[in-house]
Amino acid sequence: MNDVDWHAVRNDFPLLKQQVYGKPLAYLDNAATSQKPNAVIETVEQYYRQDNANVHRGVYALSERATERYEASRNKVQSFLHAAHREEIIFVRGTTEAINLVAQSYARPRLTHDSEILISAMEHHSNIVPWQIACQQTGAKLTIIPISDSGEIDLDDYKQRLTKRTQLVAITHMSNALGTILPVQEMIAMAHAQNIPVLLDGAQAVPHIGINVQTLDCDFYAFSGHKIYGPTGIGVLYGKQTILDAMPPYQGGGDMISQVSFENTLYNTLPYKFEAGTPNIAGAVGLGAALDYVEYIGLDNIVRHEQPLLEYATQELLTIKGLRIIGTAKHKASIISFVLDAAHPHDISSILDREGVAIRAGHHCAMPLMERFRIPATARVSLAFYNTKQDIDRLIKAIKEVLILFG
Ligand code: PMP
Repeated sequence: MNDVDWHAVRNDFPLLKQQVYGKPLAYLDNAATSQKPNAVIETVEQYYRQDNANVHRGVYALSERATERYEASRNKVQSFLHAAHREEIIFVRGTTEAINLVAQSYARPRLTHDSEILISAMEHHSNIVPWQIACQQTGAKLTIIPISDSGEIDLDDYKQRLTKRTQLVAITHMSNALGTILPVQEMIAMAHAQNIPVLLDGAQAVPHIGINVQTLDCDFYAFSGHKIYGPTGIGVLYGKQTILDAMPPYQGGGDMISQVSFENTLYNTLPYKFEAGTPNIAGAVGLGAALDYVEYIGLDNIVRHEQPLLEYATQELLTIKGLRIIGTAKHKASIISFVLDAAHPHDISSILDREGVAIRAGHHCAMPLMERFRIPATARVSLAFYNTKQDIDRLIKAIKEVLILFG
């Protein structure tokens, strides 16, 4: 799209038209999950109304159609991520399942008590706990790249932590709690210089940053459909074909086999080897529609629209007395975490809720990060392209009311 009519775009999201406590909804919790455009809602509905059948099995028209739609979505994901092969796209439940798959199928067989997995101090629990489990199973060690007060990684420090023992680097592309965009291109090159593969947690990055897995040269890339305007319960693991080929299946069941006998089972080829059981077909189809929608608006346009909104929100928040922003990296997108001297984040978000302003309060599934900043929680504002300056103005007005209430 050349000239985006952002007002019309907002109108594509029916949920945003509702009122909460008699006030228009200002939805500012997009990092938790995004709202869905009509294109996604209608695609999922139409799939269930017309095309629903199980995939890869039936030799009848309806099942073939369901299979075609499911596999067409895989092609869309491939093109969205710029992956070299469609076999490199594995449908999973979400980022969490994608990382668990890699932890158990890739990392676990390689880990010994001499190995390490390297993650950063700003990971979501989904990119901490699966590695802790694999480390507990094997005696390996989880090592942490520290972050600065601004929420950034020092590349020299990172380089020193890459050792002969490091089996994998697993880092977020964009922090869900701070908004920091990590210098992943450099980090991958530095890890590869020592033959260490890299997994990127792209849960937050995909709605805001164009992804090219071949340019990045990452070995794995994980994301969730629901954060990029698609349905819940569907996500993607991208892995380089040679690496995925060498990995054992994560789960056993239907569809992931080519032949089963009680003595021996032959596994299916990629990507089916990693898709045991009936998949979330409608979810995959809905994700395809979401990616079409994002591509129709254009990620460049989205960034051009969201970045000034982020700057405006940051400036306005900084005018509030006693408000401190946690995470002031130079390179960040769409997320602002803050604390107020006067009120706990939960109180802030409850009061904002009564004003129709939805933000998140808590540790954002990043408890070690909260510990790093010596705070129990933050209030977090996270933007999407359908947000407006008016949403921000209402946020600021509501925070000022919190200050009045808390003296
Ligand atoms: N990583 C990051 C950075 C996230 O923000 C999230 C979701 N909050 C996840 C992983 C987990 O995603 P999901 O719950 O969709 O599996």
